[in-house]
Amino acid sequence: MQQGRHEMQALIFDCDGVLVDTERDGHRVAFNEAFRQIGWNTVWSVERYGELLTTAGGKERMRRHFDEEGWPVPDDARDAAIARLHKLKTDIFMQLIESGKLPLRPGIMRIVDEAIAAGLKIAVCSTSNERAVQAVVDKMLGAARAAHIRVFAGDVVPKKKPDPAIYNLAAAELSLDPKRCVVVEDSNTGLRAAKAAGMNCIVTISSYTAEEDFTLADRVVPDLGDPPGAVVALPDLRRLIA
Ligand SMILES: [Mg+2]
Repeated sequence: MQQGRHEMQALIFDCDGVLVDTERDGHRVAFNEAFRQIGWNTVWSVERYGELLTTAGGKERMRRHFDEEGWPVPDDARDAAIARLHKLKTDIFMQLIESGKLPLRPGIMRIVDEAIAAGLKIAVCSTSNERAVQAVVDKMLGAARAAHIRVFAGDVVPKKKPDPAIYNLAAAELSLDPKRCVVVEDSNTGLRAAKAAGMNCIVTISSYTAEEDFTLADRVVPDLGDPPGAVVALPDLRRLIA
């Protein structure tokens, strides 16, 4: 184990694409169901949603789509519609999570248990909706693990990733030295946020991020893995700290 100021202090996860493969099978499905429920005949294909993912945040993503494809409502009704859709989509997404239909990605349960056993601080930093992120942690990891995990999410910072604000907030709140933190991200946007905060970052590629630029990453893997396959274990993460 490394010593002194170079010793690993915290393990920090992004949520979407890292803990669970939320985007394709969770968020996209929930957006489509929300559009259907308010009577809009908008359907985001797997391909279209992949394009929209370059915009962070659900409300921003919807605005971009309708700016590009045309709005089904007059200008003065847009804000209310987006607010209503976002709440509806979040409720639908929560139901998906609570139904247990979004399994954790490989290695997540294992590495969280390793981090808890090692006494590391553990956090989830996401600029997605706070209620949804907390539900992923509570429902998928379970209450015993969730009790060890601080969630920083949603509108707690003014700027979304790739701005480092959410990681800076976690470092401040948990009294962390950024150089002693290892972040798990799945996207270029998240990677840039982590690195801009001065943290180390391993990328686990997800369904929509295979083509992105990860040259800033300290390591890139398909996932953290579970035995008997190849695994990224806690000592491997400690070695990412310079
Ligand atoms: Mg992500």
